[in-house]
Amino acid sequence: MNFNKLARECVRKLKPYSCARDEYKGSAGIFLDAYENSFGSVLSVGLNRYPDPRHIELKARIAAIKETTIERTFLGNGSDEVIDLLVRVFCEPGVDKIMILPPTYGMYKVVADINSVEVVEVPLTENYQIDTDAVLKNTEDVKLVFLCSPNNPTGNIINDAAILKLLETFNGLVVIDEAYMDFAPEKSWLPKLNQFPNLVIIQTFSKAWGLAGIRMGMGFADPEIIDLLTRIKYPYNVSGAAQQLALEALSHIDKKDKMVANILSERQKLIEKLKKLDIVLKVNPTDSNFILVKFRNAKQVFEYLMNKRIIVRNRASVIGCENSLRITVGKPEENKILIETLKKFTAECTEIAEE
Ligand SMILES: *Cc1c(COP(=O)(O)O)cnc(C)c1O
Repeated sequence: MNFNKLARECVRKLKPYSCARDEYKGSAGIFLDAYENSFGSVLSVGLNRYPDPRHIELKARIAAIKETTIERTFLGNGSDEVIDLLVRVFCEPGVDKIMILPPTYGMYKVVADINSVEVVEVPLTENYQIDTDAVLKNTEDVKLVFLCSPNNPTGNIINDAAILKLLETFNGLVVIDEAYMDFAPEKSWLPKLNQFPNLVIIQTFSKAWGLAGIRMGMGFADPEIIDLLTRIKYPYNVSGAAQQLALEALSHIDKKDKMVANILSERQKLIEKLKKLDIVLKVNPTDSNFILVKFRNAKQVFEYLMNKRIIVRNRASVIGCENSLRITVGKPEENKILIETLKKFTAECTEIAEE
């Protein structure tokens, strides 16, 4: 696939901004090129210098851990930036389209709307899987299909066979957002990058790594696609503090894995307890760190919980998620209070019904 041809003309023709740190690539020297404060900073953490715009050290570590290459690795200010850059590289406003499969992560549509890019919506099936035929029938002018697996807000993994079919048949890019992949028994699509040049994978430090605060998203794709993203990103899109902290985080994979194991064991307990509640109609299978739960009356439950200062995500107004609340797996004590509160709600409802 010729990705340069797939990209917008203005991106192809762009002469990227050249910043001071692009011209001299060494790390030692007397730096008098970027109007920084040579005396230091007001903080003990330093950071008086502009960060590496190419993110070389961090990308090298990530590429090694993920068993891919620097050339296939991109870093953004959260995965939300990666999503935005993908749309801006490939979709000419008012001409090209993206496809999303609702119910899914809301950011794909927001990014498209901001960029005046039309969104084709092909709903997931009843089991929250891809309707492959419907997808393939509606790809006219579509440059990017956004898949989320495990899917937010439904929690489930998308079947391999359906994704494979899209990768083999669709004439644009298939973007798989793997924000929750650490919580799933299935493997990432990352090793398949060599096999499918039109595959783009997005991952993040925000969920399993517990670092939503540093804003660090990752994109993995064919080197040509990574080049295009790099051309249009802001030079210093990832801060020095974020790069340092992400590097530090990568030497604690064991800690991440342990937290994931704890979350999974809490998730199992939570699922079993939710299933026993009278007000719960369905606990959807989940491969992530949250559970989509269908209630008899989600709105009432949501408000009751809110009044007790337990905040969950109300997804009742989303197509395919009628009467459903999305509940993140909390710490043992938090989950215990959640279940007790839901039991209390059930008891109060029954009392009212009996009166
Ligand atoms: C939380 C989430 C992200 C993470 O976004 P960041 O900008 O990296 O924090 C990405 N995709 C999905 C589907 C998510 O739910």
